[in-house]
Amino acid sequence: MAKKRLGQNFLADERVAARIVREFAPTAAETVIEIGPGRGALTARLVEQTGRVVALEFDRELIPLLRERFGARENFVLVEGDALAVDYCALIVPAKTARVVANLPYNISTAILQRLIAAHVCVSEMVLMLQREVVARIIAPPGASERGFLSVLVEAYCVAEPLFDVAPSAFRPVPKVWSTVVRLRMRERGAADISDESLLWQLVSAGFMQRRKTIFNNLRHAPARLSACVEAHGGARATLVAAEIEPQRRAETLTLAEWVQLTRTLEERDMG
Ligand code: SAM
Repeated sequence: MAKKRLGQNFLADERVAARIVREFAPTAAETVIEIGPGRGALTARLVEQTGRVVALEFDRELIPLLRERFGARENFVLVEGDALAVDYCALIVPAKTARVVANLPYNISTAILQRLIAAHVCVSEMVLMLQREVVARIIAPPGASERGFLSVLVEAYCVAEPLFDVAPSAFRPVPKVWSTVVRLRMRERGAADISDESLLWQLVSAGFMQRRKTIFNNLRHAPARLSACVEAHGGARATLVAAEIEPQRRAETLTLAEWVQLTRTLEERDMG
């Protein structure tokens, strides 16, 4: 029985599994992380072509099945663990970087994506199956109503390339929604020349806190740590003005360059 709380919609269409792995194009020289191997729809193809597959599965009831199917393979490492808690850099040792492929559990897919981006030092690329709506959010440009925290974050760290849509009928059990496979290539320089990356994350998160409010109002009511920093630098209005951002704008209209400018404004003043 598939477990709904673990987002288990297993890929049943072999052509889709083949297409994902073809797009991912694993090589014999690399380490690949597969999050949520499930019953092995993607894993079976990955182990044929990849130097080393580190498969991370949370559901302990799936572990014996995966061991039986792939345990004899020298290039297969099965880790029973939580994609929301694991240290991705430690997971791939002795490799220093790895690529990630996954049909993600839809209920925690954006939280996992945030963790993968946070691990950008050791994750170089991801090919992920996500809900179609989530991909629309990820690639939403400034001004689009879907633009949110994740869109800015992905733009800051990745080059996103939607690959193809997948119909609900490709999965068992059949979900209610369509999926999209997207390639996210990590940018080499991370979040464009920012020394305090957590400040950018905090600013974007606070900016989108209440979507209908202005960036000014959201910054004014930012969580304690960020708020203290903003106040120490003249308050929300002064910070926005210094970054040349009209305080009455809404977060979804800001470009990545403006988020970076806002972050730098606080950083520069910190240094001064
Ligand atoms: N890769 C398989 C496929 O395509 O058929 C399964 C995909 S299914 C959508 C998501 C998988 O992620 C399931 O195997 C589920 O048990 C696993 N999973 C759920 N939560 C997880 C977590 N926190 N960490 C790691 N794996 C998780």
